[in-house]
Amino acid sequence: REAFFASPRHPYTLKLFAALPDLSRRGGRLETIAGHVPALSAMPKGCRFAERCPQVFDRCRAESPGWSDCGAGHRVRCHWVAESRRLAEGKAKVPDEVNLVITSASAPGQEHAPLLMAADLRVHFPIRRGFLQRTVGHVKAVDGISLELARGRTLALVGESGCGKTTVGKAILQLVRPTGGSTQLDGRELTGLSRGALRPLRRRMQMIFQDPFASLNPRLSVGEIIGEGMSALGVLAEHEERNDAIAVLLQQVGLDAAAAHRYPHEFSGGQRQRIAIARALAVQPELIICDEPTSALDVSVQAQILNQLKALQDDLGLAFLFITHNFAVVEYLAHEVAVMYLGRIVEHGRVDEVLRSPQHPYTQALLSAVPSVRLEQAPGFIKLAGEMPSPAKPPAGCHFHPRCPHAKEICRTIFPQSIRMTDTHAVRCHLYGEPPG
Ligand code: SF4
Repeated sequence: REAFFASPRHPYTLKLFAALPDLSRRGGRLETIAGHVPALSAMPKGCRFAERCPQVFDRCRAESPGWSDCGAGHRVRCHWVAESRRLAEGKAKVPDEVNLVITSASAPGQEHAPLLMAADLRVHFPIRRGFLQRTVGHVKAVDGISLELARGRTLALVGESGCGKTTVGKAILQLVRPTGGSTQLDGRELTGLSRGALRPLRRRMQMIFQDPFASLNPRLSVGEIIGEGMSALGVLAEHEERNDAIAVLLQQVGLDAAAAHRYPHEFSGGQRQRIAIARALAVQPELIICDEPTSALDVSVQAQILNQLKALQDDLGLAFLFITHNFAVVEYLAHEVAVMYLGRIVEHGRVDEVLRSPQHPYTQALLSAVPSVRLEQAPGFIKLAGEMPSPAKPPAGCHFHPRCPHAKEICRTIFPQSIRMTDTHAVRCHLYGEPPG
């Protein structure tokens, strides 16, 4: 196991590891794997990875590789690895076509002006019971969230399932109506606006969902799906002009313009997510809320989508609110991160600050549970007691206190104030700052 993670050898394993997002790959493109997995009914004669392999040479296509021993119980089926070993031992000549170098590229980022602001945002759903459907309580899905997001920047909102992060995204877009607080887009208040008043603003903010299949109408062609939003929001009324724009959008997200005439079920998960991105881009938004857009995809397809989103941000200056539970994606893509627990943000700051020096016990526990392929970096695992409580009955004081290994008496009764650790890093926890007087 140690040898496998410390020194992967097979070109497919190397590609998979290079497709994993993290801080060291920020600003650069993630590796992707060309082509597709071959169908079981049409397995190639030689190595099954040959058509996608950057190291392929003639023997790979002619003969299935046997096992090569790399030592310490680490074995690999690859002609390239076997040839490289024989070469190192002076027993072989390098075939002309063998490529011994794996490369990656990089691109710079950019900064823009503020765009989104939410202050004390609340979404409380009433719990109704009995014949008369009386309100007997509230599910406090979002309970006083404040955040800001600038143009061309990515803010990651992270937390466990059920912490309310998707509801924050929907409340910002006014897809669920907030119970209170303020949400402004470019200085314009969104909360309380009528449908009609919201309509022109919807063009400027879009959402990409986790499940691209469920979010695409199976009865409409891809062209109709992308054109639907344009027509609803009055973008490019001329039929021909719109069709041209759809073709450009499809190419922009890495699909063929002919895809417009096909249906969602004809595409893979990654391609469907590209269609969802094209649909979001069709109305020329400035803000996109991405709700776990890569969590249903394998790592190589995830890398393609993350590369795509990053390129679009660099080209178009888009702001992303990126809802995720995947810290590797946060590390790679986001500029700032907000950690959410039971409807509230408990820590917020620049990605490097929060991920390198987490202060809140919940953030520390989340980060300690992140699986790593780099064994030497794996931190000690912090096991949290119990499950996240129901937002219908949040604990008093700090919501995290029943699970917190550092809980004190004050934690059970008083919700902590926001304490600034640096100009850009804030945390809500009684372990820091002066106790309230
Ligand atoms: Fe733990 Fe108290 Fe900090 Fe909450 S406020 S995270 S219970 S130490």
